[in-house]
Amino acid sequence: MSVKDLNDLNLNSSKVILRCDFNVPIKNGEIVDDGRIVASLPTIKRLLAADCSIVIIAHLGRPKGVVSAELSLAPVAKRLSKLLDTPVEFNGEIRGQSQDARALKAKQILLLENIRFEEAETSKDEKLREALAKELSTYGDLYIGDGFGAVHRKHASVYELAKLLPNAAGELVSAEIKVLERLTDQPARPYGVVLGGAKVSDKIAVISNLLNKVDLIAIGGGMVFTFLAAQGKEIGKSLVEPDLFQVVSELLERAQSLGVKILLPTDIFVGPEFSDQAVATLVSTDAIPSDQMGLDIGEKSAQEFAREIVKCKTVFWNGPMGVFEFANFSNGTKVIAQALTEVSGLSVVGGGDSASAVRQLGFKESSFGYISTGGGASLEYLEGKELPGLVALSQGRDA
Ligand code: AMP
Repeated sequence: MSVKDLNDLNLNSSKVILRCDFNVPIKNGEIVDDGRIVASLPTIKRLLAADCSIVIIAHLGRPKGVVSAELSLAPVAKRLSKLLDTPVEFNGEIRGQSQDARALKAKQILLLENIRFEEAETSKDEKLREALAKELSTYGDLYIGDGFGAVHRKHASVYELAKLLPNAAGELVSAEIKVLERLTDQPARPYGVVLGGAKVSDKIAVISNLLNKVDLIAIGGGMVFTFLAAQGKEIGKSLVEPDLFQVVSELLERAQSLGVKILLPTDIFVGPEFSDQAVATLVSTDAIPSDQMGLDIGEKSAQEFAREIVKCKTVFWNGPMGVFEFANFSNGTKVIAQALTEVSGLSVVGGGDSASAVRQLGFKESSFGYISTGGGASLEYLEGKELPGLVALSQGRDA
C-alpha cells in the first residue's frame, strides 16, 4: 500500500480540507501539552505558503455525539493562531459551513468545532457517515489527511470524506508512516519493544504479531500483573485481567520457542491505594503483599530493562512502566525514557501516554529518534492491520 503525499497534489491556491488530530490534554480550559498542535504546523505552513485556504476538521476526546464545553476546540483555535502568528477563524459550528468555507481567501484558516460532536462522525452506520462526509466535501476541493492519531478509525472525516476528493497524506502522516516502515521493514537488530500502560487486552495483538519480528519484549505497567498472576504469583490489589491468563501463558510459551527474550520485572513499587499520596514500598514480585497494589516496576527491574534496551539498534516503546503521573511511581518510566535516549539506532516513543510522559518528565523531544502522535494508530500498524485512514489515502483512491 503506497500512501500519497503532498507532492502528489497541485496545492497552488487550492481550497483545502485538512483533517488534523487536536486531541490534546486540556485542564480547566488550559492546554496542558500542545504536542499534537505543534505536530500539525509543517502541513499548515506548507499550505499557507502555497496560497491555499484551509478548513480544518479535528477531534478532541470522545464526546460520542454530545456537545460539551470542556471538549470544545475553542482553546485549540487560540493556540494554533498563536503558534502560526496568523488568525484562525472559529465559530463553534460544524454543519452548514459550505458558504463560509468557500468564501475563505488565500491563506485564511477556518477551524470547525470538534467533529465528534456530530454523532455521524463515529457512527457504525455507514450511511450516516457517508451523509456527513458528503456535506463536508462541499467545504473544499482537496482533502489532506494529517490526523495520524485517528487514521486507525473508520470515521466519516477520516475515511469516507477522504474518498470523495483528490487526496493525500499531510507532512505529519507521511513522517509517521516512514518511521513505522523502518520498524517493520528489515529493522536493524537487535530489535527491542517495551510495552506498558494499563491494559494487557489493548496490547495482546501487537505482542502476538511482534513475536515473529523482534528479539526482545520488556513488559511493565499495569498490564504486567496479568503476566505475573498467570505465572501463579500473588499480585495483591494490582490491576489484572484474569480472562487473559491462558492467552498470556501461550504468548510466553511462543516467545520461548521463537527465542524472543521476554523481560518481566523482578521487583515492584507497591502502594496501599491508587493515589498520588500513596507511599511507595519496594518489594520482590515474589512477595507482593495482598493489601498492596503494584504501581511501578522496581529499581532493579528498571535498570535491567534499561541495560537490555541500550544494546538494541531499534526500539519501540508504548505505554508507561508505572503510574508516572504520581511522582512516587514515576521512576520506572523515567529510567526507560532515559535508556531510549541512549539507543544508538532508532528509538521510537509510540504516542499517547508515553509521548506525554516523556514531555512531562522533562525529556527533550530531540533526544529520541521519533515521538509518534498516535498510540493506538501505531500499535495497530505494528499489529499488521490495514488502517482505514491510510487506505483512503492510497494510490488509485483519488476521485
Ligand atoms: P495506556 O493508555 O494503556 O497506555 O495506559 C496508560 C496509563 O496506565 C497511565 O495513565 C498510567 O498511569 C497507567 N498505569 C501504568 N502502570 C500502572 C499500574 N501499575 N497500575 C495502574 N495503572 C497504571
